Amino acid sequence: SDHSLQYPSRPEEMNWGTIFPHFYDRDGERKSGEGVEFADVGCGFGGLLMQLAPLFPEKLMLGLEIRVHVTQYVHDKIVALRLAAERGRLEQPSSTEPAEPSTSTDTPTAVEDEEDIDELTANAQLVSSAHLTPGSYSNVGVLRANGMKFLPNFFHKHQLSKLFFLFPDPHFKSRKHKARIISPTLLAEYAYVLRPGGIVYIITDVKELYDWMDKHLGEHPLFKRLVKDEGVLKGDPCVEAVYTATEEGKKVERNRGDKWFSAFERLPDPIEE
Ligand code: SAM
Repeated sequence: SDHSLQYPSRPEEMNWGTIFPHFYDRDGERKSGEGVEFADVGCGFGGLLMQLAPLFPEKLMLGLEIRVHVTQYVHDKIVALRLAAERGRLEQPSSTEPAEPSTSTDTPTAVEDEEDIDELTANAQLVSSAHLTPGSYSNVGVLRANGMKFLPNFFHKHQLSKLFFLFPDPHFKSRKHKARIISPTLLAEYAYVLRPGGIVYIITDVKELYDWMDKHLGEHPLFKRLVKDEGVLKGDPCVEAVYTATEEGKKVERNRGDKWFSAFERLPDPIEE
C-alpha cells in the first residue's frame, strides 16, 4: 500500500533542492538550466541512473522507486558516489593535474583538508552544493514514489525528455493487467509529462509483457515507434545503458535470457480545432 507516500499537490511545491543541492539555491530555484528531465520509473537499485549521470552531467535525472529499502539503498549509493567523486577531485593535486582554482563564487570550492572530508563522511547531509561539481553524481537523485500515480504532481506538462521503464514487474495474470506500469490510461499521463520529441524506453525479458507494452504504446496516437540504431536512436548512449546498466538487465544476462526492447517518440499534441 502507498498510503504513507507523500505527494506534492502540484510540481511547484516540490523542493528539488533537497535532492539536487548543487543545482538549486536556497529558495528552491534552479540556478541554471532545466528541472528534472529523465525519469526512471521503478528504478530498482539505480544502475541506469549511475551509468547515465556522468554522460549527461547537466541533465537532472530521477529514479522513482516504491520499495522503501531499495530507495534508501539508491540514496545512500548516490551520497557515497558524490563523496567518492569529491575525494577523487581532492586527490588530484598530488597527481600531475593542477588543482582547480577556487576563486570564483560560482564554481564549487575544494574541500580544504582531511578534517572536512571526515565531517562530510560522518554526515552525508552535509554533501552540499559547495562540495559538488557537475559530473560528480550531483545530477542524479531518487524519490520513493509510486510511478503509476501522480506523476503530474511532480512534473510539469512536457517537462521530461526521457522516460525509462526497465524490466518492470510483469503481473502475469490478466486480472492484474491494470497493475502493469504501461496501460492505456497511464499512457495518457506519461504523454502529459513527456515533451514532444521526448523518448520512452522499454525493455523486458518477459515476452508477453513486451508484447503488451509495445502494443499499447504503438497504438497510442501520441507515440511513434522508433527504430533501433536509426534516426534519433543512432548513437544514443541510453540504448546501450537500457540493455546493460541495470541490475535486472545484468541478471537476465547471467541467465542468458532474451531482452525485448522498444523506444517511442512523443509526438506533438494535435492542433485543437
Ligand atoms: N528497473 C530496475 C532494473 O532494471 O534493475 C528494477 C527492475 S524490478 C524487476 C522492478 C522494480 O519496480 C522494483 O524495484 C519495484 O519495487 C519497482 N516498482 C514496482 N511498481 C512500482 C511503482 N508503481 N512505482 C515505482 N516503482 C515500482
